[in-house]
Amino acid sequence: MLDTPLGAGPEFDRIRRMAERWRERAHGLGDDCAFIEAGGEILAVSVDLSVEGVHFRRDWLQPAEIGYRAAAAALSDLAAVAAEPMALLLSLGMPAKDGDEVVHALADGVGDAAADAGALVVGGDLSRADQLLVDCCVIGRAPAPVRRRGAKPGDRLVVTGVLGGPLAALLAWRAGQEPRPEARTRFARPSPRHAAARFLASRRARAMIDVSDGLVGDLGHLLAASEVGASLWVDRIPVLPVAETAATRLGEPAWRFAARSGEEYELLAALPSDVTDEDLSRAPVPVTVIGVIEETPGLRATSSGQAVTLPTGYDHFGPA
Ligand SMILES: [Mg+2]
Repeated sequence: MLDTPLGAGPEFDRIRRMAERWRERAHGLGDDCAFIEAGGEILAVSVDLSVEGVHFRRDWLQPAEIGYRAAAAALSDLAAVAAEPMALLLSLGMPAKDGDEVVHALADGVGDAAADAGALVVGGDLSRADQLLVDCCVIGRAPAPVRRRGAKPGDRLVVTGVLGGPLAALLAWRAGQEPRPEARTRFARPSPRHAAARFLASRRARAMIDVSDGLVGDLGHLLAASEVGASLWVDRIPVLPVAETAATRLGEPAWRFAARSGEEYELLAALPSDVTDEDLSRAPVPVTVIGVIEETPGLRATSSGQAVTLPTGYDHFGPA
């Protein structure tokens, strides 16, 4: 069964149904990583699949970027639990038509992401497939893992970095345009927040998750896992300037655009209320307070004190 309750959505309903089939064989499901105790240490393990046509398109990204991004997405799950990356395994599905240059570039991308995170590439598998599939398994050391559950009423809700870049890039590609470089980089070469995770863990982060399904979706998971609610102050959500421009063009508030942008790989965390703004300013990347954890379940969003409705999170099995 699911040890950590997941938020709403068809993708997560499917996971719930699989966990029901496994019954007592399932253990510890529902967090960003699985935790395995071995030799007195806790290992964090996660796996992340990138599929051509679902997560990326070849006319958008170079093979090296496809590799980097797939590995970074998996490594981000280690950051989400404050684990130190150790190792990565790569399973690759490739069409027969792809030559050595694609293999080399993909390998370079995966290798660069592993090196940037301080992880070694320790194994993998290769198969022919109809489209490109890049599946990365990552292993880290987690002496004091931060789970999705553990947020307490009164905790400060914080997010790292600035949001909106990946959605700005996606919308530009879908419109047949080349995204602005700042937005493109955020999609093609995301930086897992390992240093920020260490910082937030050192500030006694009680619950944490990485923003892969979008701020609203992932906040929903953190609240469901912690069995709490929250107020979200949407005007505080940090937005990448080029995403602001893209939102303005759509006639959409910038915060709303940023809140529905997925595959951000920033961290969302609940910190004890005594962690001050001055202390947060010492973080290796900007950390912004965007709300407060509350006892009453549900997510209440306000803009200038007025209630606003939130966009829904990104869901692979939801309506397109
Ligand atoms: Mg995650």
